[in-house]
Parts: sequence; structure tokens; C-alpha cells
Amino acid sequence: MFNLQIENLQPSKSMVVMAKAKKMQATDPDVIDLSGGEPDFDTPQKIRDALKCWIDNGYTHYTVGAGLPELRTRIARKLQEENHCHYTPEQVIVTPGGKFAIYLAVRALVNAGEEVMYLNPAWVSYGSIIESSGGVPVGVDLAYDDEYAITEQALEAAVTDNTKLLIINYPNNPTGKLLTPNDRDALTAFMHKHPQVFVLSDEIYERIVFDGQENISLASDKTLSERIITVNGFSKSVAMTGWRIGYLAAGTEVVKRAFKLYQHTVTCVSGFMQKACVVALDCQEEIESMRVSYENRRDKFIGALNAIDGVECKLPNGAFYAWARFEVGDMSSETLCEYLLDNAKVACIPGISYGETGCTCVRFSFATSEEALLQGAKNIAVAMAQLR
Ligand code: PLP
Repeated sequence: MFNLQIENLQPSKSMVVMAKAKKMQATDPDVIDLSGGEPDFDTPQKIRDALKCWIDNGYTHYTVGAGLPELRTRIARKLQEENHCHYTPEQVIVTPGGKFAIYLAVRALVNAGEEVMYLNPAWVSYGSIIESSGGVPVGVDLAYDDEYAITEQALEAAVTDNTKLLIINYPNNPTGKLLTPNDRDALTAFMHKHPQVFVLSDEIYERIVFDGQENISLASDKTLSERIITVNGFSKSVAMTGWRIGYLAAGTEVVKRAFKLYQHTVTCVSGFMQKACVVALDCQEEIESMRVSYENRRDKFIGALNAIDGVECKLPNGAFYAWARFEVGDMSSETLCEYLLDNAKVACIPGISYGETGCTCVRFSFATSEEALLQGAKNIAVAMAQLR
């Protein structure tokens, strides 16, 4: 009776844990929620002030096209200056959140039954976005022990004549890994070998990078950029999750198709928000101060996790997630997370939600107070000692 593509979608596992943690917190203030994927900062004042000002200035009507020319021009400049990607303003579409940009790109490219590869561990929504668009998700498992390196062999084992798209995400949610020069080389060799395959590069955490390292944008390679869709947004870098605004930049032919669907679904993103986002792109100081704070918290929290018997956590180079491996025999990551919630009062997301089946991993967000992080690690240490 209902649309089967939608009927068969599974609820977002991370949202289920987050909802449970929120419910428990309502009656038990000692519950520590490290499950969420959002900055704990408020949107910088300058951006909020701009929004109020543009509402008062009448920017409350439909805007035409795929975004205000001023914002698309500023985004194209940002992509050029910060990411070395050569997109024109006409190749940018402003969307309601990065998530919708991914959906739009998948819908614009993928026919029913075509395959879309993505690299595990992967953000929870890729599979569902692909399925709801009629595509066939093909998870490519990368290995914890190889630091999740991308290899040509892994890509070649998964690609078929029916593959349309490969989705990558760096800095990665959940592992915090950055794209390395070797990974990039494997990807570009793969793209040259398979000219029918497009790549969607989800760079939503691109401004949250540590230890003086830099994000590599795949589309900086001019020879391939017509086939690369770069997705980014304001949620994570400028603490604007609730605003729901992001963007994609892509080759002209892809943008043309994506815009057709955009016109009939979104129409536009509110004009006053777009105006405020022009200001957000100039908030370098605020972005940097949030980044430094994540880096400090990362150091303390990962140190505390590694001090626990049976827990290993490599230093993530980007995003705000700790991806910890637990030595818990054959206990699944789902059972482990339930155990930690009940016994350590710490909410976290099981690795299986991200497709990690090779070892028992758990994702913790460190975008929360240092006090909560250190108390959480203490509680986990006690709960782990009781397990052994
Ligand atoms: N991509 C990744 C890897 C994410 O973790 C998220 C949010 O959690 C998104 C995209 C979507 O971000 P938004 O829709 O808030 O811009």
C-alpha cells in the first residue's frame, strides 16, 4: 500500500540512541550523552545579528534560482581559496542542510537499480538515502588495522558496470580520519579507470581538522572535477545545525539535473538565512576558536579513554568523534552500548550502525563539556572493570 522504498527504510540508529539518552536524562541528570553529532557552541553572535537584520530588511520572500547570487559567489570563492576547487557560482546549489544536498545529488544521478558504493565505516544516512532513491547501496569495508586506508583493490572488488556513484566522507564521521595523499591517489586512479563513476565528496567537517593538518578536497584535481560533487554546509563548522543550510558544488551537467528536482521540491532556502550565511563564511576567528576547543577536548578525552583497560582509541585528525575499539570478547557493539548506557550512564553509538563488523567499536562525540567527558571516561572505566 505504501511506497516500498520508504517502507523498507530503517530508522536512523544514531537518532534512536540520542532519543533514548534524552529521555533518560529527563529523569536522571547523571546520564552523560556522548551520542550526538552536533557542536555544543551557539551560533556566533554576528551571524544571528545578521539574520535578524535581514528579516527586518524584508528578506522574507522566495528567492530565485539555486541560491542568492551573493551567497553562491561567496561559496565559490571559499571553495577556490580554502579548498582549491574551481567551481563557478552557477555550479553551486544552496540546500536545506548538507543531508539534502547529498539526497539531491544521488537523485540527480542514480537510476533505479544502479549501484552506489560507499566506504565503511560510513555515516548512517548514506545507505538509506541511496535506497530511498531506488539505488543499490554497496558498502566497501575498510580495515581498522590498516587505519581505514583506501586501496585500489578494495574499490576494484566492489565496482561493476552498474556502478554510478561512490560516496566518500573526509574528515570522516565516525572515525575522524582525514583523506591521505595515498587515499587520494587510489581514488583518482579508480576514477580514471572507471569514467562512468561519479564521486560525491562529503566534506561537512572540513573546518574541524587537528594537529596543523589540512583537509584534501578531491575536486581540487581539475581533470576530474566535472565528475566530483562536493558537499559542505554550515552545521558543523559554524555551529548552525538547527538552521538547516548546506550546499553542493558539481559539474554543470550534474547541477542542471539537481536543480530540476530542487525547483519542484525545495523552491529555495529562506533569503534571510542565506544572507546570514554570507557573514558565516567570514567568521574565521570564531571557527578557529571552536576548532581549538575541540582539539583540546580531544586530547583530554582520548587520553582518558586509552587509560582504560581494554579500550584503544587512536587520535582522530578531524571532526569531533572518538572511535574507540573495545576488547570485550564476542560482545557486539550494540550490546556494549546498551551495557554502557545502563551501567556507566554514558550514551554512545555502536560501531555496527556505521557498518563496522570487524571489531567492537563505539563512537563518542567530544563536542561536549570537558567535565562531562572526563566523568564519562571515569564511569566507563568502572563499568569495564566490572565486565572483566
Ligand atoms: N554528512 C555527515 C558525515 C554528517 O555527519 C552529517 C550530520 O551529522 C551530515 C552530512 C549532514 O549535515 P547537515 O544536514 O546538518 O548539514
